[in-house]
Amino acid sequence: MKPSIPPRYHSPQIAVDVRLNTNESPWPPPQGFSERLATEMSRIQWNRYPDREAVALREALAARHGIDVSNVFCSNGSNESIQLLLAAYGGPGRSATVFSPTYALHSHLCRLSGTAVEEHWRGDDFALTANIVKSAASADKADVIFLSMPNNPTGTMDDPSVVDAALSGRSLVVVDEAYGEFGSLPSLASRASAENLAVVRTFSKAWAMAGLRLGYTVAGSSVVSEMFERALPYHLDVVKQAAGHAALAFEDEMQDRVAKIRRERERVLAALRELAVTAWDSAANFVLFRPATIDAVSVWNGLVERSVLVRDLSGQEGLVDCLRVTIGAPAENDRFLGALAEVLASGGER
Ligand SMILES: *Cc1c(COP(=O)(O)O)cnc(C)c1O
Repeated sequence: MKPSIPPRYHSPQIAVDVRLNTNESPWPPPQGFSERLATEMSRIQWNRYPDREAVALREALAARHGIDVSNVFCSNGSNESIQLLLAAYGGPGRSATVFSPTYALHSHLCRLSGTAVEEHWRGDDFALTANIVKSAASADKADVIFLSMPNNPTGTMDDPSVVDAALSGRSLVVVDEAYGEFGSLPSLASRASAENLAVVRTFSKAWAMAGLRLGYTVAGSSVVSEMFERALPYHLDVVKQAAGHAALAFEDEMQDRVAKIRRERERVLAALRELAVTAWDSAANFVLFRPATIDAVSVWNGLVERSVLVRDLSGQEGLVDCLRVTIGAPAENDRFLGALAEVLASGGER
């Protein structure tokens, strides 16, 4: 019998004026980054394979987090990190615990790797508590526990006690910090060298480099070795290594971008709360909301008609009628808010 392959994971790519559906940064990295990268590019030995272990990039990341280079693994997007962690710690006969609603790709990659998924549910307003995690961990005794901090698509930042609750068992705890920079808590990366903890981070969001496909994992050196063993040889190309390294020289600009997005997030939240929607607090670069008077698909369509694309999550269990909007540049957010007000005013029935 052929193994069943789950349907492809993707968000529709539609040509619109305002793209607020995949949590990209509205602004590119600074000009200085492009210049620095161009200089690096002129020195590249194209006929040679890249550094197999990406040492320069990993050392720069290790310095950033105050850890050792042996605790850092770089990957093609953070998604590849998760795939390799599952190749090492998941697979047929093993299981992983997830807390829904959460990032659908975690369970999708579990299924692709033959890892059984144990699904548990977040509490009121999508909050995860240490108790929920503790009882799930002792019931499942899973090989892997996934946490997403802040959580996508709800924007929830869970109390750090959930991490301790997850770590109390023998599971490998994978904390996805794709939006960590947008929250107000420090990264768990500084803890990852000692315990059964793997912290997964990305250049796709705060670093404004979704096009680069670069992510990394911070974990104990034995976890990092397991990942290296399962990666393809020379999996990280020379351009990616150089670009990631160059980007890290522009940390201040990244922090400025994040600060602007956080201010816009609070402005968008306040404006949403003036409309007929429920909008949840967010520690990320997006906001989850539920229209009160019109169904989500009609709102999504109404926004697309006005050339604004948001993410329709209404098909996901636990997210009935929910949509997610990425925080864009101020003018994009205004377009979104104006279009949403129009759609809601145009009526329609639930
Ligand atoms: C966007 C996102 C990522 C990023 O994945 P990349 O492969 O690094 O682009 C990872 N985790 C979550 C929860 C995300 O929302």
